[in-house]
Amino acid sequence: MDIKGLKEALWSDVRHVLLDMDGTLLDRYFDDYFWEHLVPEKYAEKHNITFGRAKEELLKKYRTHEGTLNWTDIDFWSRELDLDIPALKEQIRHLIEVHPHVEDFLRELKDAGKKVALVTNAHYKTLKIKMRKTRIGGYFDKVVTSSEVGCPKEDIAFWQRVERILRFDKDRTVFIDDVVENLSAAREFGIRYIVLKTMASSKETEAAEDSGFLAVSDFKELLP
Ligand SMILES: [Mg+2]
Repeated sequence: MDIKGLKEALWSDVRHVLLDMDGTLLDRYFDDYFWEHLVPEKYAEKHNITFGRAKEELLKKYRTHEGTLNWTDIDFWSRELDLDIPALKEQIRHLIEVHPHVEDFLRELKDAGKKVALVTNAHYKTLKIKMRKTRIGGYFDKVVTSSEVGCPKEDIAFWQRVERILRFDKDRTVFIDDVVENLSAAREFGIRYIVLKTMASSKETEAAEDSGFLAVSDFKELLP
């Protein structure tokens, strides 16, 4: 299938559209800056070590919890790093941005009567900060977080449970995400239309490698 085929299905047969938040609808630059700059900076101050050393220690910690629910749990990170993670996120909330044409896309989906769900690994506190800053929350019929589901999106069990929550028909569902592991789990589960969102961060400079998934870099490519 190509983008043209996907668009035809999307604006006719498709009933449910499942959308990831960070990197897909919102600029991932906020998250990258947060974990790679702000947190190491505060961690270095706290432990009286250099920024470089802090970054090294943190990367090791991040890697240990990648792909688990801990990774997405900012209360876990507050305890683990002895930093007030939600307060730090608030500090840089001005960096939270919606990607181009996302609101147009969401509006068109609503106008076309699609069921639209936000499907995210983000912690509810992060979700709250981001929805308050961006005001895209009103477009969703439902918001599903991995912490309420009990496992992250890269697990096939996540999709089995979400199917029960949203009652979607796999053959008439589109899922868009910026992380290949999440797309792979959704594909394995059997969702028919799977799309990779590239240009997850506005500061990204390298062209995306071919992932084997249908890809869009800007939501205008999917507008009717
Ligand atoms: Mg994402």
